[in-house]
Amino acid sequence: MLYKEPAPIKDRENPFESMMSRFNVAAEVLGLDEEVYNVLKSPTRQVIVNIPVTMDDGKVRVFEGFRVMHSNILGPSKGGIRYAPDVFLDEVKALAAWMTWKCAVVDIPYGGAKGGIICDPYSMSAGEIERLTRAYTNSLIDIFGPDRDIPAPDMGTGPREMAWLMDEYSKTRGSTEHAVVTGKPLVLGGSLGRVEATGRGVMVSAMAAMDKLGMDPNKSTAVVQGFGNVGAWAAKLMAERGVKILGISDVSGAYWNDNGIDIEAAIEFKNEHNGRLEGYKGAELMDPNELLTAKVDVLVPAAVEDVITIHNVDKIQARLIVEGANGPTSYKADSIINEKGIMVVPDILANSGGVTVSYFEWVQNRMGFKWTLQRVNERAERIMNEAFERVYAASQKYNVPMRIAAYIVAIDKVAMTYKYRGGF
Ligand code: NAD
Repeated sequence: MLYKEPAPIKDRENPFESMMSRFNVAAEVLGLDEEVYNVLKSPTRQVIVNIPVTMDDGKVRVFEGFRVMHSNILGPSKGGIRYAPDVFLDEVKALAAWMTWKCAVVDIPYGGAKGGIICDPYSMSAGEIERLTRAYTNSLIDIFGPDRDIPAPDMGTGPREMAWLMDEYSKTRGSTEHAVVTGKPLVLGGSLGRVEATGRGVMVSAMAAMDKLGMDPNKSTAVVQGFGNVGAWAAKLMAERGVKILGISDVSGAYWNDNGIDIEAAIEFKNEHNGRLEGYKGAELMDPNELLTAKVDVLVPAAVEDVITIHNVDKIQARLIVEGANGPTSYKADSIINEKGIMVVPDILANSGGVTVSYFEWVQNRMGFKWTLQRVNERAERIMNEAFERVYAASQKYNVPMRIAAYIVAIDKVAMTYKYRGGF
C-alpha cells in the first residue's frame, strides 16, 4: 500500500519537528556525537498496518494502524496506543521519541514506542472496538512482547482495550502473559495507583518546582486545562497540598471561581455526567482561551498538544507551567516563555509518573506479586523527585531552561548506553 501522509493542519506545528527542534538544541549543548545523533534522530522501526474489521452492519472496513519504536537500547520499548480520527504517523513518531526521553529522564529500563489507529472510537460499538483491537494485536504479534515492546493506553483507549490486547496476545502464546501490556484492569494484573499516577507525578513536579521558586503552595493559585485522567487528578492532589485551583476546563468549556473550585465536587459532577463538566454549577463559565492566560501562579495544561503557541504565549501570566499533557507547548513559543522568565516543568518530566507506575505494573507482573498502594506511591514520588533534581541540576550546570535540561539528561543517558553497548 502506498502510504500518504495527511496534509498538515494549518497553523499547527508538526509535532515531530517540534520535538526534534528541542532535541537539536540539547544535542548541541551536550556536544552529542554525530554518529549517536544520527541513530537517535530517527525511529528504530515504523510499522504501518491495514486492519480489516467486520462492522456491526456486516460490512468489512479497513483501518490504518501504526506502531513506532523509537529506541530499544535501554530495554523493551514502551508506549501507549492512541485511537483517534486524526492520529498520523509524524504524531506517533514524536510521541514514540518522547517516550524514549521520558523513560530515560526517570531512569527506568525502557525504550520509547507509540501506536495509533485512525478511527473514531466514540462512534463505534464495543464489539467493533474489540474486533479492531484484537486484529491490531494480531497484525503486530511479532512486535509486541514483555521483553520487546509493551503497549499501554493513550487517548481513546483504556483498561478495556489493554485487557483485549493481553488476551489476544496470550492466546497466540498459549500462556497468560500479563506483562505484555500495562494499564490493565486491576483484576488482570493492573497496578494499584496507576490510574492517578500521571496526575500525582504532575503534583509532585509542581511542588518541587514551587519549592525552587520559593512559592508557598498555600498562597498560590492555579488553573488546569483538561479535566480527564491527568487534569482531574493533578487538580485534586494540588488542591490537597493547599493550592487554590481558580479555573478548570474540558471540551465542554472553561469554569472559573474566584474563591477556588471545589475539585472533589467537580470530579463527582463529571463522573455523574459522562465524564464532562457541562452544566457544572460550582463556577462561572469563561472563555476557554482566557483560561491559559489568566492571572494565576501555576498553569497546568493537561489536555492536548499545541495549546501554548506564539498566538497566546505573550499573554501568559503564570510564573510556572507544569505540562501534564504531551507537547502542549509549541517549539516557537519556547523562546518567549524563556524571555518572560517562566519556569516550565516539561512534559517528559512532569507527566512521567504514568510510565513510572506502568513500569511498576510490569515489575509486579514479572514477580507475580502485588505491591500496596502506599509502596507504589512512595516509590513513584521518590523517582519523580530524583528526576526533578537531576533535571534542575542540569539546567543550572548548562544554564539552560528545564525543558532543554530534561532532554540533556535523557539524551546523555541514551548516548552513554550506546557507547557502552557499542555494536555499530
Ligand atoms: P483524557 O481523555 O482522560 O482527558 C482529556 C481531557 O482534556 C478531557 O477532560 C477533555 O474533555 C479535555 N480536552 C480535550 N480537548 C480539550 C481542549 N481543546 N480544551 C480543554 N480541554 C480539552 O486524557 P488524559 O489521559 O487525561 O491525557 C491528557 C494528556 O496527558 C494527553 O496529552 C496525554 O497524552 C497526556 N498523558 C496522559 C497520561 C496518562 O497516564 N493518562 C500519561 C502521560 C501523558
